[in-house]
Amino acid sequence: MTIGQPAAAPACQVCGERQLREVEGFAALPRITSDCRAYPAGGSLHVCLACGGVQKIPDSKWLREIGGIYAGYEAYYQSGGDEQIVFDRATGKPRRRSDVILERLVGRGGLASRGRALDVGCGNGATLAAMSATLAGWSFSGYELGEGALPRLSRIPRFEKLHTGSLDAIGQCFDLVTLIHALEHFPEPVAALSQLRGLVGDGQLFIEVCNIDENPFDILVADHLMHFSPHALELLLERAGFGTVAVATDWVPKEISLLARAGRIDPRSAVPGAAGKAAPGEPALARMASYVAWLRAMVARAGQLEREDGPLGIFGTSIAATWLGSQLGERVSFFVDEDESRVGKKHLGRPIVRPQEVPAGANVYVALSPAIAGMIAARHAGLPCRLVAPPPLRLD
Ligand SMILES: [Zn+2]
Repeated sequence: MTIGQPAAAPACQVCGERQLREVEGFAALPRITSDCRAYPAGGSLHVCLACGGVQKIPDSKWLREIGGIYAGYEAYYQSGGDEQIVFDRATGKPRRRSDVILERLVGRGGLASRGRALDVGCGNGATLAAMSATLAGWSFSGYELGEGALPRLSRIPRFEKLHTGSLDAIGQCFDLVTLIHALEHFPEPVAALSQLRGLVGDGQLFIEVCNIDENPFDILVADHLMHFSPHALELLLERAGFGTVAVATDWVPKEISLLARAGRIDPRSAVPGAAGKAAPGEPALARMASYVAWLRAMVARAGQLEREDGPLGIFGTSIAATWLGSQLGERVSFFVDEDESRVGKKHLGRPIVRPQEVPAGANVYVALSPAIAGMIAARHAGLPCRLVAPPPLRLD
């Protein structure tokens, strides 16, 4: 840097260009942590005008915030540590996320009968347990920030080792390296992926992240640095020396599933997927502005509901429901969930009930992305309560 010049603007984590623009109105929105705890407003969200990448900036404030969040982290506390359910695209029924991903991963072929897998960001082992149950000839290792989950991980059949510290220090290759909802947390994603190249070797890299094209709530997650579209994820991988083999947005609703190998992939051998629809900067910035407006409208709609007759419930106990519920506070009487591991417990001090147990005459706000809210409202149309979907999401 030359003396007298201002400090360089932060670079885009996806493409490296210095063309980030802040999304107006985001700083005023209350946030949430990825382990589903209310978190105060005051963040910032940026879009790269060069590539459309949506991201936070890993400055000292953000690093301080995530340090505090991880110090008290408790994954899936709503269900006593059991993994979150997702809604199967084919049947609409709730299933464990890792089971759905594993079934698809095995179903597409390409995994040998024997091998070694490493799950980066393994948490308390939900993905490793699902892999162990599915891949009989494989052994498994995990990577995490701390060793807190080691007793739980050690009970997984054919579990080898929990790695902590630097990724470089692992020093061996695996046939499959997975990052399930992990990549969006890394303060320097391109550097982390470059380090992973040495662990992937001739094997495969599998990444699962939220799809920002389909999930407006993801921008509220304070400890998510990155909010990927399929296009941005492929671009980042390419910069880190990986080629995309396959990308899908229909394995898990609102998520991206991507399989890659180190090196460049001949485009003719890659499986066509959802990527290729480039999201240039200005439309992506406009889309994020629409998300901010929609999230504000969602809270306003809930405010109207609580003035109507009948108790007010919220459908769900995850990110969106917790974000909304913590803003409504005392005015929420109960939460509704189809996940049996959560029913009967309390969330934000309110009981979690099954859909069939909702009191007659209640208003239940289906606080989920519009497409999923519609699916759930249709499935429970026969209940004696009023299911209210969020306002429509208008994308200019
Ligand atoms: Zn960019």
